[in-house]
Amino acid sequence: MIVAEDKDTLRTQLKEFFGYTSFRGNQETVIRNILSGRNTFVIMPTGAGKSLCYQLPAMIRDGLAIVISPLIALMKNQVDQLNAYGIHARFLNSTLSKGEITRLKKDCVTGSVKLLYVAPESLNKEDNISFLQKVKINFVAIDEAHCISEWGHDFRPEYRKIKTMIAQLGDLPVIALTATATPKVQLDIQKNLQMEEADVFISSFNRKNLYYEVRPKKETKKQLIRFLKERKGKSGIIYCLSRKKVEEIAQLLNVNGFSAAPYHAGLEPDVRIKNQDDFLNEEVDIIVATIAFGMGIDKPDVRFVVHYDVPKSLEGYYQETGRSGRDGLEGICLMFYSHNDLNKLEKFNKDKTVQERENARVLLQEMEFYAESPVCRRRQLLHYFGEEFTLPNCGSCDNCVHPRERYDGMDSVKTVLEAARQTNERFGLNHLINVIRGTEDEYVKSYGHFDLPVYGTGGDEEQDFWKSVVRQALIYQYLEKDIENIGVLKLTEKGKKFLVKPHPIELARDHDFTTSIEDEEVSSERAPAQAKSYDEKLFEMLKTLRKQVARHKNLPPYVIFQDPSLEEMATTYPTTKEDLAAVNGVGMGKVNKFGKEFLELIQKYTEDNDIETATEVVVKSSVNKSKIKIFIIQQIDRKVDLEEIAESKSLTFEDLLTEIENICYSGTKLNLDYYIDEVLDENKQNQIFDYFLNSETDSLEEAMSDSGNSDYSEEEMRLMRIKFLSEYAN
Ligand code: ADP
Ligand code: MG
Ligand code: ZN
Repeated sequence: MIVAEDKDTLRTQLKEFFGYTSFRGNQETVIRNILSGRNTFVIMPTGAGKSLCYQLPAMIRDGLAIVISPLIALMKNQVDQLNAYGIHARFLNSTLSKGEITRLKKDCVTGSVKLLYVAPESLNKEDNISFLQKVKINFVAIDEAHCISEWGHDFRPEYRKIKTMIAQLGDLPVIALTATATPKVQLDIQKNLQMEEADVFISSFNRKNLYYEVRPKKETKKQLIRFLKERKGKSGIIYCLSRKKVEEIAQLLNVNGFSAAPYHAGLEPDVRIKNQDDFLNEEVDIIVATIAFGMGIDKPDVRFVVHYDVPKSLEGYYQETGRSGRDGLEGICLMFYSHNDLNKLEKFNKDKTVQERENARVLLQEMEFYAESPVCRRRQLLHYFGEEFTLPNCGSCDNCVHPRERYDGMDSVKTVLEAARQTNERFGLNHLINVIRGTEDEYVKSYGHFDLPVYGTGGDEEQDFWKSVVRQALIYQYLEKDIENIGVLKLTEKGKKFLVKPHPIELARDHDFTTSIEDEEVSSERAPAQAKSYDEKLFEMLKTLRKQVARHKNLPPYVIFQDPSLEEMATTYPTTKEDLAAVNGVGMGKVNKFGKEFLELIQKYTEDNDIETATEVVVKSSVNKSKIKIFIIQQIDRKVDLEEIAESKSLTFEDLLTEIENICYSGTKLNLDYYIDEVLDENKQNQIFDYFLNSETDSLEEAMSDSGNSDYSEEEMRLMRIKFLSEYAN
């Protein structure tokens, strides 16, 4: 009964319905899985694109897809976004009137509704169940599925009844999606939904476009204002710990000429809602909030998240920073850190039980280590969530962009590992350090650890030095945390090998957040400036127009077009409906709904400024070389297939390669791995790569005539030469 969609069909449908040129991450495999009728469980970080995993299959299949989603506020937003694409989506929740419900039911039965968003409370009503039994339903999607689990952070009792409700509608395939699920929560969700056999798709939690930075909390207001001045007019969130602080900072910003609004639970509901809407509708740029804000925030173009105060846990921090850069463009995550904040947070816990206090303290300690550590932020965050990031430099965090001074840590790591070994791998950080430094406390005494060979051998260094070494040994996987006994550190295989045969290890010293600002060089802007490859003037004009259209239609601006689409328009200058529909994220549905004014604006702009438009470029491709180059760079950045890039610019594949080579020779790095990995196996890649590595020249003729290379086509050689040039020459 199920027809397997081939690759091209699915892609065509993606473009047709959503205007996107390619799938992201796991999307395509997930979609195929649910289309083939299998139960599917998806764990993807915030902003990765979970919605599409059920929205596209809903469009492809005849009939209706039900989407269970916990937040009524978010439901309307999602339905608006789908409607903007010309997709018939509706919602069913307690905000609808009787008349609206009757109409909705009719539209569902006649089959024109493709996606129905339902709150679990509404699905529980007998009325609704009996009417849904008459509708042809394809599958059920459960968004924010972690709400099912009591062990998760957003438990909703109604969610536990979902399976029973679905069962009344028939034997339907289920796709459950969430951004946070520890293994325990994951199992809980699968059990509750009785889908232990489901195919599970876990994506990497790495958010490549986010930049992480920690600065000492000194002259913070000055630092903050300087930071915001560089980003005037951009959307951002500033998190503070208390309501009072939220009010104070919002006011400070307004006095300094920024447009900011406060958000916290102490505000009157209507004020709170207005502030949130103003932020979504770009009436204010900055929202200053306690962490309560953002549960339902899906604004794709948040360009920065600032933590004015230290968050309570790394989980929370990661969720909050995750709200920036959902559209894949810039997202700066800046945290102001002071040790004193940790002490304050610890005091908040004084009324809790001993166990709760201890758990909270462990979370805070993780926060402290993260902030003070010299190790790549990305690597630390991913390590925390059980994922290893092993690139030596992520290029997008303060510790990688401004590396700390290194030293050889061979002897120190050896001391730490010896301490763990000699105490039989049964102790935690503090005890190990006491043993190393020869600090005689109760535990050392009662276990007689002063007799160990390692005891007191590290007395010359401060406690903080050793903490830092232990942390780095953990992150580099010489030590690991014992799962059963909280706090206990054990040797890994790698650590055991190291003790047998130690080797030099590069470590760095922690940040010293007690020194003055000047020493830490924080007064200068540290995030890497990104060169803009699009026409900024046109981009600003398009943004203004988008805001007008949005206000007129009473929708948030990003529902009309998202920033990446505007950037592309300001690069390719589309002036026909077809060209506009070709822009990533647009598609014909949006062109027909919103395109006219945008096309007119671009047309006028290109005439006023004598700019070749996309259509003309295709005809006279030699005229506008640099624009094609920018286009190619952007498309490669988005991992679009080379064939497709060539086709969209009416180039032959060879001409495209020539363009790409020119780009490389003029010093721009291009990462073609996504394409090369598809067309060349690893073995072949290595052989050609080695050839270039050892060859005197990068001449293609020579490479081709070299008899040892007769197995490779010219195209393959060229692709690998580009890779080689990008990795070594640029
Ligand atoms: P999540 O629910 O996982 O947090 P969303 O489904 O809200 O993420 O998607 C985040 C953003 O990614 C949205 O702005 C969406 O338009 C965009 N997006 C999703 N899939 C794609 C794709 N294949 N190509 C380009 N953009 C995409
Ligand atoms: Mg989502
Ligand atoms: Zn890094």
